[in-house]
Order: sequence, then C-alpha cells, then structure tokens
Amino acid sequence: MQAKLTIDLNAICDNWRALDALSAQSVETGAVIKADAYGLGANIVGPALAAAGVKTFFVAQAEEGVVLRRAIGAGPRIFNFSGLMAGDQQALDEYNVIPVLNSVAQINAFKTGRCAVQFDSGMNRLGLEPAEVAKLTGKIAALGPELVISHLACADEPDHSMNTAQLAGFRAMSVDFPKTAKSLAATGGVLLGSDYHYDLTRPGIGLYGGLPFVGAKPVVVLDLPVIQVRDVLVGETVGYGNNWTAGKTTKIATVSGGYADGILRSSGSANLYADGVACPIVGRVSMDLITVDVSALKTVPPMLSLLNNVQTVDVLADHAGTIGYEILTGLGARYKCRYIGGS
Ligand SMILES: *Cc1c(COP(=O)(O)O)cnc(C)c1O
Repeated sequence: MQAKLTIDLNAICDNWRALDALSAQSVETGAVIKADAYGLGANIVGPALAAAGVKTFFVAQAEEGVVLRRAIGAGPRIFNFSGLMAGDQQALDEYNVIPVLNSVAQINAFKTGRCAVQFDSGMNRLGLEPAEVAKLTGKIAALGPELVISHLACADEPDHSMNTAQLAGFRAMSVDFPKTAKSLAATGGVLLGSDYHYDLTRPGIGLYGGLPFVGAKPVVVLDLPVIQVRDVLVGETVGYGNNWTAGKTTKIATVSGGYADGILRSSGSANLYADGVACPIVGRVSMDLITVDVSALKTVPPMLSLLNNVQTVDVLADHAGTIGYEILTGLGARYKCRYIGGS
C-alpha cells in the first residue's frame, strides 16, 4: 500500500486568482510550472491553470516545455528559463517553446523566431550583465524579443535593500527597450507591490501554497499508511542508532514513508496527524519508514498525515531546516497521487 498525496487543483487555481488580483488588471499573471509544477505534476496542473485562465507558462528546461505543450495544447505561451542550450533548438521549434536568452553565447546561437531575453539586475545567476546589454542593444532589439525579464534575489524579504537596487538596475537596463513587455516579479515580487509588476508576473511557489505568499491556500495533503503498532517499554529504544529511548510505556506506530520519498532525515522533530491530533516522530527517519508516538490516540487510524492544513509545507520545512520549495519538489515518486477539483 502506497502513501497518498492529495493535490487540490482548485486551491492552486484560487491561489493563482488571488495573486492575479494583487496586480492591476493591465498586468498579466503567468504561472511557473518548472520542476514538474514544483513536484505536483505539470501535465495535470498545467491544463487546470490553463482552464482557469493562465495564458503564459514558464518552465526551466526545453524538455519540460515539451511535456507541458503536449498537456495544454496549442494556445498558451511557454517560456523556457534556461533558454537555448545545445540540442534544444528542434524541441523548442517543434513545440513552440520560447527560449529566454540568458547570455551573449545564447544570443549568438539564436537564429530567428520567438524569444525573450533575461537581464541580470544583480543576482549573478542568469542573464546579461548591464555592460553586455549596452553593447548588444541593437542586436537584442533586432531579435524582437516579446519579453525582457529579470529575477529578484531577496524578494521574500520586503525590506531588503536589494529589492530597490534590482528594481533600479532593471529599469536602467530596459530603458532602451520601451516597447518590449517586461517581467520582474516572481511570487515575492508580486507581494512587493505595483512597482515590481511591470507587464507580466511569474509566480510559482505561491500557486502551490508556499511562503512568501502568506495568504495561500494549502494545496497538498500527504497521508502515510500505518504498517504496524506496538508498545515500547521504558528503557527500550526505537530505530537506527538507538536514537530514541522510551521514558514510559509508549505506543509506537510504524508508517510507510521515509527519506526515499523526500521526507528529509532532518525532519525528525515534525509530527504526524490523526484528525488534528499531533503525534511526534520518534527515532530516526529511515529510507522507507517512520516511527511515531501515537500514545495520544484512542484508536490508530489506517493513515497518518504528514502534510495538511496545520503542518503545511513551510511548517515541515522549518522542522527540516529548509524551505517549502525543497519539500514540494522533493516529494518522491512512490506516492499514489490523487487530484481533486479542477474543471
Ligand atoms: C522559479 C522562478 C520563478 C518563480 O519563483 P517563485 O518564488 O516560486 O514564485 C520566477 N522566475 C524565475 C526566473 C524563476 O527561476
């Protein structure tokens, strides 16, 4: 029996609408569904968002663009953040995936067709530097990009001085492209306000219920099946390394799920939930199994939940010392996925 991952497509679409409502009507809200829609299944999430009104999608690899195009059909635009890499051209052409050209090399390798260009406004990750843009202004203009983008490094910290610095940098770099549509904001940027919205926003994590979008509806529930329940007596230990010792007689449930499923070893301070009752994980998280103190339960249900409306991806991420993005994208392949909602 597999663990069950329930993905609420209505919540994803509601989160998109809520983010869309934060910008002016003239601003388009796109959707980032790279990394298989942050682990939730681009071939299902993509069509649901397209039905909700998304007209522009972003992926991170040409191959992801192909999968998405097959799922959503011919209408919406798909931009590929990694641009044009060796071997990409044919797939991009065949599936009408638009490369975001990131470097002088990519611009030189690009021949003709639809494209976007990324400017680096300070993150030093992807995009043309200011001096490169200045030098190539004519060449870029001649390519006729339908979008110029940049990406914020600290948008999840509203008061960080990097935000205004990058805003000023992007503004300066794009003055020579007054007629080209522009995009700067991911989820964090949408929340920073209208200065950051430009023509098109690119939220990802907020769609999937994650911070920094505090108002997001939770999207995933993860239920792990209970395999066995036992009483552990005072002084007995549980799990690898004898990491936990019973201070009193304790009812321990062993559930199916572990670090091979993306449940990080470092998340051992988290709880599993039975109808709102928190049951602490005890002992080490192992590859396929987790042991849980279910002493608080009168009866142990067939499944205990690890992700729910109380222990969200960000709460679990805090336990594991990481971020919600990593929890979502790490969700493993061994779950039985069930989608609810969607039209
Ligand atoms: C991943 C990514 C996004 C989406 O970011 P979120 O923080 O998930 O909203 C937007 N733009 C670029 C360039 C990205 O790499």
